[in-house]
Amino acid sequence: MSWLLSTVTNDGKLLGADWDAWVMLGWAGNVLFTSRIFVQWWATERKKHVVVPTAFWWLSMGGSGCLLVYGVHRRDLVFVFAYVFTWIPYIRNLLIHHRMKRAEVQCAACQKFSPGTARFCANCGANVELLREAGQ
Ligand SMILES: [Zn+2]
Repeated sequence: MSWLLSTVTNDGKLLGADWDAWVMLGWAGNVLFTSRIFVQWWATERKKHVVVPTAFWWLSMGGSGCLLVYGVHRRDLVFVFAYVFTWIPYIRNLLIHHRMKRAEVQCAACQKFSPGTARFCANCGANVELLREAGQ
């Protein structure tokens, strides 16, 4: 067990690092970026089909943002290049999700929401096209 302790606290430093604000920012980025995988996995297990929740995109953006700032501070072009363009699909997916949520129509019979392209309520089968035509 001492081998583990000596690995974790190399030279009396946790993970051998000097823990300044930049290292903490980099690790915070790693934690955020990695946690998105567990959030997506949990959502998928809950629904019993593959789901990518919006939290996945927010965690991706937060984590990659922290890592990008850390990479710029360290002047590490490998880090910077790895995260400089990733925000484009994250923001695009969040915008598409927002647009789809805004287009949803609420069923008058059961109050559940259906996609904007649905003709009938997926929950009770009521005609939701009539609601859309009525401007609700
Ligand atoms: Zn319904």
